[in-house]
Formats: sequence, structure tokens, C-alpha cells
Amino acid sequence: MNDAADDSGSTSRGGVPRRPAGVELSDAREADVGGVPVRRVLPQRTRRTVGAWCFVDHAGGPGLAASMDVGPHPHIGLQTVTWLLEGEVLHRDSLGSEQVIRPGQLNLMTAGGGVVHSEEQLHTHLATSRALHAVQLWVALPEETRHGPAAFEHHAELPQVALPGGEATVLVGAFAGTTSPARTDTEHFGVDMRSTGGPISVPLSTRHEHAVAVVQGAAETGGTTITPGHLAYIGTGSDELHLDAEEGSRFILLGGVPFPERPFMWWNYVARSAEEVSAAHRDWTQRADRFGSVASDLEPIDVPAPPWES
Ligand code: MN
Repeated sequence: MNDAADDSGSTSRGGVPRRPAGVELSDAREADVGGVPVRRVLPQRTRRTVGAWCFVDHAGGPGLAASMDVGPHPHIGLQTVTWLLEGEVLHRDSLGSEQVIRPGQLNLMTAGGGVVHSEEQLHTHLATSRALHAVQLWVALPEETRHGPAAFEHHAELPQVALPGGEATVLVGAFAGTTSPARTDTEHFGVDMRSTGGPISVPLSTRHEHAVAVVQGAAETGGTTITPGHLAYIGTGSDELHLDAEEGSRFILLGGVPFPERPFMWWNYVARSAEEVSAAHRDWTQRADRFGSVASDLEPIDVPAPPWES
């Protein structure tokens, strides 16, 4: 961006651009995952990561009837963080895990060097409706664990934090002095925040960058209104975030120390280079031992070779 044409508040110092002050708002891309409409909030063309968070899908919506079936598919180099607002989903993976997840619970799968999982929406008597409203996030693993063993965790209960104007469930990491039991390999956190009316005051760490994705209602900060389908990004250096939200509004707040590397992402793979992704694609296509198999009735998902190979 040309400085002369930039009125966002950013300036160059010795050729190094500083982050613009304030809130940077970007649009989600519409996508489809297993038959359910999703808003892909992250990555953005100009913003690949927020802390170690590298992918945010907001799937379905309040009361939105859906039927999600995602057959066995591989992952490398990431953690999947699954959080339901409505609905009921069965997770199966190549570690032998078989876990139903319900609203208020967290599934966290660490891919390490390779894992396979399937996700299917259940419509049992326990499900309150046929609706699906969910968030799936990915965390890029650091060098130390991205080639390591796969793992799976389910957390039926998560800690809550009360703030002026809101209450938060700590999904991952530490927030406002409360720490989730879920595994973290880098310094990052994620919370689900509900407005209880009145201005919300959110404590932040100045070392963290942050993002807000509204999943229900709307929130306003510093003159910027955030609604579902958008990502609001706040750079490092802030120790507090003030939000105004209609009572009952709900948003996901993510943060963390800026990720030191640029992940190379293609399909379900988070790596550092095209070569690594090509190797993963070949191993999955050949059903190599690296990925194992899932006891699912759904068909495994295959995709054509990455574009750089043709
Ligand atoms: Mn997946």
C-alpha cells in the first residue's frame, strides 16, 4: 500500500510498515462443508493467522436446519477445535476415538504428522432440534509438535469467566486469569463471549494480536460494527477491548502471540512448503500408514492433486 494513499493511520518507518491502529474489518468467504453453509472468516488474503489461529469456519446458524456429513479426511500440522452452539455431532478418528459433541463441549484434535477423522451430525432423541450452529477453528502447530504424534481430547466442561457486560467460556488457553484444560502448544487463547447487557470490557495482553468473529447478533467497537460473516482484527499493543453488544449477542474472541512463521495451507493441510503438502497428498491418496483409517460408514474424501503439480 502506498503511504500517500493510506488514511488508515499506518505509517512506514525505515520501510517497515506498522500495523494500522484500530480495528481492521474483513469479509468472510461463503463455502460449503459436508452440505452445511459456512462463513470462512479466516484465513484472509491479507491476514493468514491471528496468533496461531489459522482457520475459522462459522457453520450453520441459530435454528438453521442442516445435515452435515463429512467423510474421513486427513489433516497434518494443525489442531482442530470444534465448538457447537446448537446440534450434535459424532467425531471419529484414526486414533480410535468415537465422541459425540454437544453444545458447551469442546473437541480438540491434534494432527501432528498425520491423522484422519470424520464428522457426522446426529439427529437422535437427545438432539434438541435438527439445527446446526457450530464453529470449527484450526490452530497451526509450532515446529516442535507439527511432526509429532496425533492426539484427541474431549472436554465436557469448560471454565467460565464473568466480565462487566458479558460472560465468557474459555475454550482454549488463558483468559482473564482463567485457563482452559485443553492442550495448547503455543501461547494463544479462544473464548465464546455472550453479552449480558451494557458495555463489555475485555482485558487483553499487549503481546497478543486479537480477532473477533460475531456468531449471533452484533457488536460494536470504536465505531466499527461487527456482524456474522466478518472478522475484526486488532493488532498487538492493546490491553483492553471495549465492546457494545445487544444483550444475547455472542462472539468468538481469539488471540495470541503472533505466529513466527507463515504457514503454507492447502486443503486440510497446514505445512511450511508446497513440497510438504505434496507429500501429504500423495500419502493420503495412497492410504499410507501415516494417516491410518477411521471406522466410519461415510466414504473417505479425495481431492485432485494440488495445482502446482499439474
Ligand atoms: Mn477435518
